Amino acid sequence: MIALSGFPFGRRLPCDIYWHGVSFHDNDIFSGQVNKFPGMTEMVRKITLSRAVRTMQDLFPLEYNFYPRSWILPEEFPLFVAEVRMMKDSDPSWKPTFIVKPDGGCQGDGIYLIKDPSDIRLTGSIQSRPAVVQEYICKPLLVDKLKFDIRLYVLLKSLEPLEIYIAKDGLSRFCTEPYQEPTLKNLHQVFMHLTNYSLNIHSGNFIHSDNVNTGSKRTFSSILCRLSSRGADVKKLWSDIISLVIKTIIALTPELKVYYQSDIPAGKPGPTCFQILGFDILLMKNLKPMLLEVNANPSMRIEHEQELSPGVFENVPSPVDEEVKVAVIRDTLRLVDPQKKKRKDVQCQTLEHVPEANEELLDAGPADRREYGTTKSPEAGLPSLCLKQVFPKYAKQFNYLRLVDRVAALFIRFLGVKGTTKLGPTGFRTFVRNCKLSNSSFSMASVDILYIDITRRWNSMGIDHKESGMCLQAFVEAFFCLAQKKYKSLPLHEQVKSLIDFCEYHLAALDEKRLVCGRGIVERRSAVVPCQTDGLHLTPAAHTALLNRTATATKFADYRNHRY
Ligand code: ADP
Repeated sequence: MIALSGFPFGRRLPCDIYWHGVSFHDNDIFSGQVNKFPGMTEMVRKITLSRAVRTMQDLFPLEYNFYPRSWILPEEFPLFVAEVRMMKDSDPSWKPTFIVKPDGGCQGDGIYLIKDPSDIRLTGSIQSRPAVVQEYICKPLLVDKLKFDIRLYVLLKSLEPLEIYIAKDGLSRFCTEPYQEPTLKNLHQVFMHLTNYSLNIHSGNFIHSDNVNTGSKRTFSSILCRLSSRGADVKKLWSDIISLVIKTIIALTPELKVYYQSDIPAGKPGPTCFQILGFDILLMKNLKPMLLEVNANPSMRIEHEQELSPGVFENVPSPVDEEVKVAVIRDTLRLVDPQKKKRKDVQCQTLEHVPEANEELLDAGPADRREYGTTKSPEAGLPSLCLKQVFPKYAKQFNYLRLVDRVAALFIRFLGVKGTTKLGPTGFRTFVRNCKLSNSSFSMASVDILYIDITRRWNSMGIDHKESGMCLQAFVEAFFCLAQKKYKSLPLHEQVKSLIDFCEYHLAALDEKRLVCGRGIVERRSAVVPCQTDGLHLTPAAHTALLNRTATATKFADYRNHRY
């Protein structure tokens, strides 16, 4: 049963899939699957996304050069001015343009271009509305002399383990005025510089087309065909796009996990989540894909409004939208289908060998789709999947980037009380103590100062005042500080990796010790006084947690062997 933003039979009957319109929030769902992750809307806001990507750019600058250099306003305005001045001084021929985008804005709302940082002050908007100012990509790829961007649909099927699918086709949304590189004269021409459909639809030049290869909205595959016929390396382009998507999601997952454990605590009944995301990508002239933004709630409309006669509007089908979006929703439902697992279990009982990956099964076109046992697949008549698995398929190439994920795992461990997203001072002290990070040159008093300094600064940025304490980004900053202090001469990502290994090793050792103590107590209890309680009381839940951590301990035996 699927619930579309409501409950078909009240709240009495649980549903298999809950399809929410905007965001996750619903604390009364205890089972099934929800089409939104907690915290996703917050994570993809312009400021949060820029911050998350910047953390990754600090660690891996080359791998994350697909996102334009960005500054957060108002707090980074002085930094923006200083950096631009420095870059101009070192290269006087550099004549940049910047794009200012209000945080939380969409459909081009409030966006404008500037040539100089001082132009921001003239508008007076930095005081009223937080925003991101970003380097403007001046040399986009043009088709028919027009700038266009790509909307790609990505299914985040699971956070833990990470599972990502990308739709094989997307949309290309065109500007409606021929493109010219930005000058003071044309900066304000939105139909030339902004590709938003919601803006360009109001230009007299917008072309609705029944053909996916022409008009102001086309399929991405039609662009690829054109590029390929001009001799472009389309395979490389796709692989760059896949890499951009995976890296972006890797940047988002640490904080998403913090939200997740807060809304759906482990060990309690709750749903699992999946989400369709809209990635907006701009191709540069040299075919390098650049990330513009991620949409948590991409429009799935398959019709558009058309003015039939003056003042008379009608919704008419849009074949381009239909071709791309129907397939995305259909295949998302196929991939998350709860019946599929049951069918697979039956198949496993009747067959000696069944391909491991779902994808292998599902990717087969109708002609070579195999029927297993006597269970006839209800997918037999459907076209092959438009969603292609890219993670864990390419995990080996990208796992080294998942450092902040491991920092987030440490953060979550020390959050203590379930349901919070911020770390208190005691939690931070326990983290430092358990990971053996304080010593004669780094006293517990310095630990407290570090906590207070960083937490105060992050909280003064006014992101979330609901809870007090240290948010994940602040913890990441403190962690980077500690890593730099401890492993001075290494590059940042190696400093951070070394500190993570160090912390995980000490925590695994601690868990092992606790487990042994726990076992000792249990043995002593059963041998001497079977029912007597003593200091360390292990509830079944705590015991399971310790057992899980022992698995981690085994994992880090390698580290220990290497070390001693
Ligand atoms: P919104 O959420 O309001 O649509 P976007 O970040 O998608 O905001 O920006 C709107 C449009 O502005 C994009 O579709 C793109 O055409 C253009 N744009 C955004 N950022 C850049 C950039 N850094 N360089 C060039 N064009 C950009």
